[in-house]
Amino acid sequence: MLNNPRCRSGTLILCRAICPIINYFRGNQMCDSSELQELLDQLFTGPACSWCGDHGRKLYGKKVMLCSSCRNIKALVRKWAENANANPFGADELAIAKRMEKMAKDESARFGHLNKRQIDGVDLEHAFNEVARIAIHQELPYNDANVFEQCFTLAQRRFLFYLLSRIIHIYERRHRKITAAYASD
Ligand SMILES: [Zn+2]
Repeated sequence: MLNNPRCRSGTLILCRAICPIINYFRGNQMCDSSELQELLDQLFTGPACSWCGDHGRKLYGKKVMLCSSCRNIKALVRKWAENANANPFGADELAIAKRMEKMAKDESARFGHLNKRQIDGVDLEHAFNEVARIAIHQELPYNDANVFEQCFTLAQRRFLFYLLSRIIHIYERRHRKITAAYASD
């Protein structure tokens, strides 16, 4: 990576800082992008939740297979749809539950099929800032899309994005109700 002619002095310090990550990617088990791509393909093989697209969770149902989180949301939507008029907060609860359903389904578009998507430097810049906001409640002081674009192969960018997406996905799943409660349609 450091021999990359596009990796000029302005980005050299950061390139050195992330060298351990590159070494991990180029370790004995993962010496080239094709092996990393194979790993990614494996991670996205097999059944996924029909709503959030998560491949890593136990699935329930026959026709529509859902993870436990999405299954709970589906039950919530049904519950409040049936009781919306019987409870003074029924209409609000139904709106929140429907927002949660939409948020779960949106995650499939954001994080699904990462093994085949064109992940560019801007995608990674946004994902790192999102994780930083979750962890330290602010954006990273240095986060350059060009470095990701120039110093990482497509398979490495996909893998990095996948790792970050797991953190974001779990965080959003845990905070979905509160986010939906304060959101508006
Ligand atoms: Zn799900």
